[in-house]
Amino acid sequence: MPQAEVLATGTELLSGDVVDTNSARIARALQPLSIPLVQITVVGDDLPRMVAAIRAALARSEILVISGGLGPTADDVTREAVAEALGRPLIFDPELLEVIRARFQAFGVSMPENNRRQAFRPEGSRVIPNPIGTAPGFLVETNGRLLFALPGVPRELERMLSDTVVPYLRERFPPAEALAWRVVRTIGLGESWIDERLQDLLRGENPQVGLNAHPGMVDIRIQARGSTPEEAAARAEEAVRRVRERLGWAVFGEGHQAPEEAVIAALRARGATVATLERGTLGMLGGRLAAVDPESEVFRIGEVRARLATAPEHAAEAIRRQAGTTFGLAAEVLPEAESFQITVALAAPEGSRSVRRGHRGPLPHAAEWAAHAAMGLLWR
Ligand code: ATP
Ligand code: MG
Repeated sequence: MPQAEVLATGTELLSGDVVDTNSARIARALQPLSIPLVQITVVGDDLPRMVAAIRAALARSEILVISGGLGPTADDVTREAVAEALGRPLIFDPELLEVIRARFQAFGVSMPENNRRQAFRPEGSRVIPNPIGTAPGFLVETNGRLLFALPGVPRELERMLSDTVVPYLRERFPPAEALAWRVVRTIGLGESWIDERLQDLLRGENPQVGLNAHPGMVDIRIQARGSTPEEAAARAEEAVRRVRERLGWAVFGEGHQAPEEAVIAALRARGATVATLERGTLGMLGGRLAAVDPESEVFRIGEVRARLATAPEHAAEAIRRQAGTTFGLAAEVLPEAESFQITVALAAPEGSRSVRRGHRGPLPHAAEWAAHAAMGLLWR
């Protein structure tokens, strides 16, 4: 198997103004292809440094994916850097210019003159179409090396990865074995509790099972290998079944499903409703529930004028009564000397329940923990 590297470019990445998320996107895109990513390099918009970084990467690795620097302005120098590193001239591509011009026309504006720069690409390269932006990418093959240059805008980079780069690599380097990925999401159980119950699975080699803790939530990641995609999928499916069996009610979904989506869907299915009251949580609990239920069929807030002045346990009951909902949910994050005191409480027809604990870490983290813990009470 070949190995890959990423070169993330942009002075904003070095100044700390922008966090390099593109490299992580590229890493995730390569994973299912079983192409190992061995190095991520970050350089500013600096021609000599980029040339050196491109040469060094191609001396080590067969595949290089470059992010950024394809814009129309003078500080976007990826085209020049690749041309220089490979010793090829930049050529003007009139067809590409028409594509760029057409994109501007589609937006109802005429193309600024400096966008002509984007119609240049290294000789012998191929265009990687950008269906959602003006900066096209390109691909160069040289001496058994593959270089992909993609724009820095994360949405565009992601789209071009999935439309072009990944299919291209999959065809060029068909994986020797198939991989299947699943993520099982849980809420309301601690990481060490889960760790204990999944010991045998966590030690297994195929499938590989790992835990990924978020504030108040734990994901179980499953990666299975097989000689065919079906075999890998079946192995992953079997692991998912066992995880679900062991963790029971705490499993609320799979993949990217958010807990608020699961909670709202479950309430809707039962014809139940919920109202929330919160303090010190940055509004995260109500905000996230409202976002998945904008029609307010299930989630009732804004109809009530209550304040979380009492203990969350009482507040949950008060909001439930005032709003006339099936459930009342309260969350509170109180700052203490060097930590936060988090309390979440649920008022339900059959009685109430609450969880209290200290939390060290920044406020958004504590607020997220509180929102998830509250949803966990409701989910349970
Ligand atoms: P454009 O035509 O949009 O200028 P470009 O290829 O020149 O394309 P950049 O100017 O480098 O792209 O970056 C465009 C946007 O994407 C900027 O807002 C930048 O902050 C962001 N960006 C660039 N690189 C990264 C990265 N590695 N991770 C996350 N965001 C990034
Ligand atoms: Mg840039």
